[in-house]
Amino acid sequence: MTGHANSSDFQDAPQRRSRHGSLAGLRVLVAEDTEMVRDLITILLMREKVTVVSVVDGAQAVEAAAAEAYDIILMDMNMPVMGGFEATRRIRQSGGPCAGVPILALTANVSKAEIAQCERAGMDGHIPKPFNTNALTTAINAALYDA
Ligand SMILES: [Mg+2]
Repeated sequence: MTGHANSSDFQDAPQRRSRHGSLAGLRVLVAEDTEMVRDLITILLMREKVTVVSVVDGAQAVEAAAAEAYDIILMDMNMPVMGGFEATRRIRQSGGPCAGVPILALTANVSKAEIAQCERAGMDGHIPKPFNTNALTTAINAALYDA
């Protein structure tokens, strides 16, 4: 570290620095059947020092959410075997380690009806596709720290 820090910098630091802005250390479960999207999220979040576990359908998401605690879940809507709405409902009703964590929908061509459906299923918000790092980290931050 270069430069000079005086004592007031140290005193002020804890107030200025909230967790908002850094996702480092978070554990994120991603449920997405499209490999390219799954890989993109994994790469973008790993750059932010996030631990990413990804699964390919809603049934696997329910299973993963029952097995371990995650800080947040990113859930595709349309997946084979079980879609995101049903998986979210089951996670919410499970009483498991992820029953109360934020769940964000990954949505393409989102309509007002779909957003309402996300909320009814117990989701906390949505991330429209396509997204970039900023959209992803902003949505996660908002879900975790602005509630
Ligand atoms: Mg899909």
